[in-house]
This record gives sequence, structure tokens and C-alpha cells, in this order.
Amino acid sequence: MSSVFSANSTLYHQLANIDGTKTFTQVLSNIKAVQPQLNIIEQYWASWYCYMNNDVLATGLMFFILHEFMYFSRSLPWFIVDCIPFFRRWKLQPTKIPTAREHWHCLKSVLLSHFLVEAIPIWTFHPMCEQLGITMEVPFPSWKTMAFEISLFFVLEDIWHYWFHRLFHYGVFYKYIHKQHHRYAAPFGLTAEYAHPVETLSLGFGTVGMPIIYCIYTGKLHLFTLCLWITLRLFQAVDSHSGYDFPWSLNKFIPFWAGAEHHDLHHHYFIGNYASSFRWWDYTMDTESGPEAKAEREERMRLKAEKKAKKDL
Ligand SMILES: [Zn+2]
Ligand SMILES: [Zn+2]
Repeated sequence: MSSVFSANSTLYHQLANIDGTKTFTQVLSNIKAVQPQLNIIEQYWASWYCYMNNDVLATGLMFFILHEFMYFSRSLPWFIVDCIPFFRRWKLQPTKIPTAREHWHCLKSVLLSHFLVEAIPIWTFHPMCEQLGITMEVPFPSWKTMAFEISLFFVLEDIWHYWFHRLFHYGVFYKYIHKQHHRYAAPFGLTAEYAHPVETLSLGFGTVGMPIIYCIYTGKLHLFTLCLWITLRLFQAVDSHSGYDFPWSLNKFIPFWAGAEHHDLHHHYFIGNYASSFRWWDYTMDTESGPEAKAEREERMRLKAEKKAKKDL
């Protein structure tokens, strides 16, 4: 029995597709009739679980479809932008426009790794959620709770990403793992998940592992919050690889937001700007990338050396 109506098993039996004859539309209209207090997203959510009548498959398939749909639908506009010369004025490396061949190679590789790496979680994700106490019932938590948790996940993921990404730039880690992601010195949207499977799993832990740790500590997390968080994190990753910095980009309104301008420099110079979403770690640890940051760093070192020399006199 699905736990989407955990508090009401009679209701579930009434609505679910137990004998396999109900269509999704029938289940949805039944839920709309008997649970009018639910909002539209909650009604669709409950209908999906009632229609599937198998929580393991319902959660696994939902996450797989969500990931594929969000990743490729967010990458597609960047592919279109790359085809329109008008947008070149905002391209961070305007002389390096990705070719159709590069797009095709990247698409094939990303699709293959998605299907290989994500086939297992389809069957294991829901049992893991149940073990951890991640709930899926309706109604959802308040928007305030979800906003707080998602903001916290952004901050925590950024910490994880900064240190592990920095580690991946050392010797053997770079040579055998992270080098694949740096194939494109001028990235484009689709390259966000173009990486070695070891990198996908270890950097991906920041996205999936942080909510898990949060749930272990607090004992509460809703699966819908996790869906929203993964979607926003995917958007952040694709956008930061887009190669475009517009006057209306988010970093123009939130100064500590990293955005494409920050990550493009990382791909261009192969060093510095290791964080994913925010600028504060690279600023604090003095690992900012690009000629401006380099000049500032050298100036600081020069002043420091002068000060020391004066002191020694
Ligand atoms: Zn890197
Ligand atoms: Zn990258």
C-alpha cells in the first residue's frame, strides 16, 4: 500500500489503481472530488502514487524522468542561444562557439552515463527514503519550510563541492577523473554533467547526501522538497556551464551568486573558482580565478614582501 495517504488507508483503497483498470485521469478526478483541500500539485502527486500502486517504482521512475526532463529541457535553450549570433555579445568566450559535433559527442556521453549510473537508484531510492524517514504523503510541508531547507542545501552543497572539486584538481585525481570534465575549455549547458562516473558520484553526494544528513539530524524531510531541490540544483549546474553572462543574470542581482561568469573562468584557466553556487569560499580561501584575481593576488604578495623587507631593515 502506498504511504501517500498514510493516515487514511480506506481512502487509499478507494482511490488507488489496485486492480490495474483505472486510468490516471480517473484517479486524478477521484482525488479532486474527495480531496478538494489539496492544491493542484498535491493532487497530481497523490494521483501518481495511487495510479502506480507501487511506491518503489513510482518514486524511482519519477526521479529518473524528473532528472532527464529538467536537465535536457534546461540545456535546450542554451543550445538554441548558441545558434543565434545576436547573443554572442554576452558570450564569455565569444570566439569559442561549440560546434554541432561537440554537442553531439557530449549528448551521447551524458545520456549513456545517465542510463548506466541511474538505473540502480530507480529501484533503491524509495527503500532508502523509507529507511531514512523521508516522507511522501500529502499535504506537503509549508512553502516556508521548503524554502528554508532548499536554501540550506544550497549552502551545504557548495561547501562539499568547493573542497572535493579542489581535491579533484590535484595530480592523479585530475589526471584520471576530473580531466574528462575539463575537455571543454569553453563550456556549454549540456557539459554540466559531462564527467567521469567517479566524479558524478562523489560531487553528486553533495546534492543527494546533504539532504540525507539533514534528515538524519532532524528526522524530517519531504520527498517533494527533495524534487524541488534537485531541480534547482540542476538549473544552477546547467546555467553555470552555459557560457553566457547577461545583464539580467542572477549574479547581477545577488553579488555572492557564482553563475556562469564564475565557472566559465574555471574552465578557461583550469584553476581557481572551485565552488558551485556561491563566491564566498573562493574569496575567503583566495582561490579566485582569472587575470584580475591573479593581478590582485600578486599585488597583495608584493605589498606583503615590501612590508616584510622594511621590517627586516
Ligand atoms: Zn575543475
Ligand atoms: Zn564545470
